Amino acid sequence: MACVSCERLVAASDNGIVCGLCLSRLPCLPSPQCDRCGHPRRAGECAWCELLPPYVRAARSVCWLPGVASSEIVHALKYGGWTRVAGEMALRMSRLAWPADVVEERAALIPVPLSRSRQRERGYNQSGLLACALAEHWNVPVWNDAIRRCRDTRSQTELTPGERLGNLAGSIAASESRSKDVAGAHLVIVDDVVTTAATLNACAKALFEGGARIISYVTFGRARASGDRL
Ligand SMILES: [Zn+2]
Ligand SMILES: [Zn+2]
Repeated sequence: MACVSCERLVAASDNGIVCGLCLSRLPCLPSPQCDRCGHPRRAGECAWCELLPPYVRAARSVCWLPGVASSEIVHALKYGGWTRVAGEMALRMSRLAWPADVVEERAALIPVPLSRSRQRERGYNQSGLLACALAEHWNVPVWNDAIRRCRDTRSQTELTPGERLGNLAGSIAASESRSKDVAGAHLVIVDDVVTTAATLNACAKALFEGGARIISYVTFGRARASGDRL
């Protein structure tokens, strides 16, 4: 089996997807970082925090996208059907540093839901795989049923940021079945990648309106914004 990034052979005893060298070279977000949004900090106000609604406590991501190995890993999880790579991604997500209150309060992990048709097509929800693997490290439950897609949305990658918001408006709702658990809770939403935070924000809004007290985000990749230092 060849590494998805560098095409060197990966030992069978390894995870079989990406070689150790490529994993060690992931373009991790540099420190110092904003305590709230986890974005590399520059002098002055934090532009990335402005993407987040006030009830979002903190956000963390492992590495930049696009980047060496990170792009191939995310692509493999999403489109290659190589679900084993989720374990390597979740391990790195589990090591991220958080404000103490987030660690104390986080009650459950909430994967970003796929539409029913896309999940059928793909056979799995990549965010759900990451959440399940991460839950074992953090020892918290995964609530797959807390939010759901109300209708199919066009693939976000085909849209401009403005179109993304319109496309998402009203597309995600909290489920009745979890309303008692969600009430008053600090929940952590899990996704593979954050770009404009539009999808995560739509999920957070649904949870907040469903009674959640506070929400945090964790992703493997984060899109570079113009001006970010490498
Ligand atoms: Zn490699
Ligand atoms: Zn910030």
